[in-house]
Amino acid sequence: MEIKVLGAAGGEVTGSCYLVSTGQARVLIDVGMFQGSNTSESKNRLSPSAKPSSLDAVLLTHAHLDHVGRIPLLIKHGFRQPIFATDATIDLAEIILRDSARLQVQDLERQNRKRRERGQAPTDALYQPEHVEPFRGLARPVEFNQPITVAPGITARWREAGHMFGSASIELQVEEAGRRKVIVFSGDLGPTSMPILRPFEPFDKADVVFLESTYGDRDHRPYEDTVREFTRIVTEAVASQGKILVPTFAVGRSQQILYHLGIMFLQKQIQPFPVYLDSPMAIEATKVYVKHPDLFDDEMKSWQSRGLGRSSKGYFHPTATAAESMRLNDIPGPCLILAGAGMCNAGRILHHLRHNLSKPNTHVLIVGYQGTGTLGRRLVDGQKLVSIHQRRLSVKAKVHTLNGFSGHAGQSELAQWFEPLAASKPQVYLTHGEDGPRTALAQVLQKRFKIAARLPRHGEIVQV
Ligand SMILES: [Zn+2]
Repeated sequence: MEIKVLGAAGGEVTGSCYLVSTGQARVLIDVGMFQGSNTSESKNRLSPSAKPSSLDAVLLTHAHLDHVGRIPLLIKHGFRQPIFATDATIDLAEIILRDSARLQVQDLERQNRKRRERGQAPTDALYQPEHVEPFRGLARPVEFNQPITVAPGITARWREAGHMFGSASIELQVEEAGRRKVIVFSGDLGPTSMPILRPFEPFDKADVVFLESTYGDRDHRPYEDTVREFTRIVTEAVASQGKILVPTFAVGRSQQILYHLGIMFLQKQIQPFPVYLDSPMAIEATKVYVKHPDLFDDEMKSWQSRGLGRSSKGYFHPTATAAESMRLNDIPGPCLILAGAGMCNAGRILHHLRHNLSKPNTHVLIVGYQGTGTLGRRLVDGQKLVSIHQRRLSVKAKVHTLNGFSGHAGQSELAQWFEPLAASKPQVYLTHGEDGPRTALAQVLQKRFKIAARLPRHGEIVQV
């Protein structure tokens, strides 16, 4: 049997995808999108040799776009086989894929306008909304910790990864010609301090391990420090009667912010004020959380029993429509508005920034990574003059950067997850990390467990 590394390799952190092939089955683990400013479009296109209809199944670790983003592309090219994932991952992936298809179509219109100007023939979108529609019908929900046969000779088991709602690591038991091998894919692993989510649950035996290495070179600052900082900023903003604008992605950070605010209100640390979730996608994602309370960690369950959630009805306002969103322009502070896009390069957050950046009592709270060239990055860099919708604005608002809400485990936690596997002396491959972090993590595994981890390149084939 062999495993081909088809993404998140060679120092890349996006495009996660592995092809497991035996004499009788072909299975993909994740089919992520390659992302980032210097990603060439051709990387996401399917190679002519791919033959999606010859696959037996797709298995998903979690719903982030860099792990599920090319499923509609498989469907476009004839894939109609089962897609195994946890319930919450299926729900979230559907939301994320629909949004992705919508963005593909928008992108296409922009590209084709440019092509027309240059006299070139129009091109087609990577995929369209119609290629997302079959997803739900192909999806097969799996239970955590329950082995399930996914293809001839291949049994799989999902275990909590603590990285995203519904996220999992996957263990494969693969049988071929009387031999049985265990292959473990960590997927993305979360920090054990991540609120709402249960901490990761490691596996304890494997022949081969693929381990993520996003933060393989460092540990995060203690999570409580970030929460304390967040509380300080919110208190300061409320004192100045200002608006707090939080650019966020729909899943994860948004719910994390709502959670911490909810606790602050419940504990009467601060007088409750209106909180607006101004993103149809984030509202949908939040409903998925509500639908799967079994995935909450003990702390979240305990807060719920003390009234978190119930008590939020009075101050928490989802604003689904554009008209509702526009009305937020005229309301006074203090209030907090969560809106996309997370990097301030599109979406409703732009309207809120346009109306409020020039006011000194506005607070912009940056809680996620801001790519080079985005408005979010310019704000983080402290630029005093920015332009939004072709209008120049002077930035008088206070911009705060809070880096501690990371969804990825740090170096010590990656080693902690790996520790129970070390005794079985597996072959280890470090993926989903830039070369600095994955080299650093390889050194830790060598030092602590005497295991020489390998750093696969894109397209590398691992023989088992
Ligand atoms: Zn992820």
